[in-house]
Amino acid sequence: MSMTFDDELKTRVESQFPNIVEQLKTLIRIPSVSSDSFDQAPVAQSAEQVRAFFAELGGETSIRSCPGENGWEGRPAVIAKFPATSVKPEAAPTVLLYAHHDVQPGGDPEKWTVTTPFEPVEKDGRLYGRGSSDDGAGIAVHLGSISALGNDRNVNIVVFIEGEEEVGSPSFNNFLEENREDLKANLIVVTDSDNWKAGHPAITTTLRGVAQVTVELQVLDHALHSGMFGGPILDAVTLSSRLIATLHDEDGSVAVEGLVSRETADVDYPEADFRNDTGLLDGVQLAGRGALASRLWTQPAISIIGMDTTSVANASNTIIPSCRFVVSMRVAPGQDANEARQKLTEHLIKHTPFGAKIEISDGEAGPAYQAEDNQYLATLRECLAASWGREPVDIGVGGSIPFIADFQRAFPEAAVVVTGVEDPLTNAHSEDESQDLDDLQKAILAEALLLNKVGNGVNN
Ligand SMILES: [Zn+2]
Repeated sequence: MSMTFDDELKTRVESQFPNIVEQLKTLIRIPSVSSDSFDQAPVAQSAEQVRAFFAELGGETSIRSCPGENGWEGRPAVIAKFPATSVKPEAAPTVLLYAHHDVQPGGDPEKWTVTTPFEPVEKDGRLYGRGSSDDGAGIAVHLGSISALGNDRNVNIVVFIEGEEEVGSPSFNNFLEENREDLKANLIVVTDSDNWKAGHPAITTTLRGVAQVTVELQVLDHALHSGMFGGPILDAVTLSSRLIATLHDEDGSVAVEGLVSRETADVDYPEADFRNDTGLLDGVQLAGRGALASRLWTQPAISIIGMDTTSVANASNTIIPSCRFVVSMRVAPGQDANEARQKLTEHLIKHTPFGAKIEISDGEAGPAYQAEDNQYLATLRECLAASWGREPVDIGVGGSIPFIADFQRAFPEAAVVVTGVEDPLTNAHSEDESQDLDDLQKAILAEALLLNKVGNGVNN
């Protein structure tokens, strides 16, 4: 009986896995917090450590950075290139593997129960420590898959490990521009998202975008005595409240016309789990309609995230003349964020009550993401299924990952797929962050299988 190359990869991943876990532990020990208020020496140190790990595998490595907007000092990123070995590199497709080596601050060490943030500890099949999952696990997946392929590469691999994802990637666009030639790929694999559950793989196929406006509503040019004039004149807070109330239907669904929305989802998010995960107070009802997962991933959502008005401490018996508030909208995948923001603006103008004066200024508009159903996505599904022994599910993420859209804009010909090994127990950004080690090993195998299959694609 002969062993297939896929079997061979499985054997290699198994035997190399303990070493990969040790490498991940080394990374956890470096407090590479990219936020400005932290010492940046550890970020440089973690970039160097990551570079060294990929260099040990034979990669052609470098550490690069470039300035971002508003004087931002770009954090060091690692690029490691592994040209195809078993075929001519010019004839082979290129896969870009993304992860990030910066982490969130450790938080209060007292609140960590298993270990302290930067001291890795294994317990019950999970590895605890800051960055064990987000996104040290992403780096470990790439180290593991390249290590498993060894010198049998039918595909060009470029590894790109960013150093400022946790602060919103301020120099990302400039970096892509400056390093365009080195980062160009047929397929971009972003390993910084979630599995559905521990033991159940997922592909993140949608991300919501974001659109924001600031509204200033005015009824008077100065405050008036509410006893003398109250009655015929409604104050600006009351009118703002009436306007804000038009943004949702009776059941709490977004009521703005012209927004894209999908009410179905691949998976069921039980209400009890949701209540537990969010800590919603007893008796508070959920808003919206359709599958709960769809309300988080594929329907728009609107929140008021700030308001300037007279404070309670300064309250007096006067009619408040003006009120300012910020409307933040999550945009469903499949809609342009600028277009959605325009629909929101039209709604606000149309529904302004009692002829109040309003002024609307545009805030941010960050694009949503919807995976294209291409051959790479189908291949990724196969590889995840082969590694876990069960079909992956499609999930969404309610928040935005702005750099995904940056990738798409910079490399429109490339397919982008989003994978990851976090799960609901991971606690990314919080205390007791941890990574399921069995899932990590399976993710490594899945990526090794994927790289090999993508390489085989050109030879068929
Ligand atoms: Zn991350």
